[in-house]
Amino acid sequence: MAGGPNAAAVPCLACGAKAVRTYEGSEDDHYRCTACARTFGIDWHRGAPESPCWAPTPEELRAARGGQD
Ligand SMILES: [Zn+2]
Repeated sequence: MAGGPNAAAVPCLACGAKAVRTYEGSEDDHYRCTACARTFGIDWHRGAPESPCWAPTPEELRAARGGQD
């Protein structure tokens, strides 16, 4: 459940690199970044993504880094 197959990998919230799902819950999934090893959770209770979360566009990468380039 949770994010489904399109949410198997997402941009890291800290550095924008690829983070892979380590745990799939009923409403939220847990991820670990392949670059900085940060772990975080994403709540998908409002619905799974309709398209793959990885790879992000350059604009999404900038947004993930807080607008800094
Ligand atoms: Zn990272």
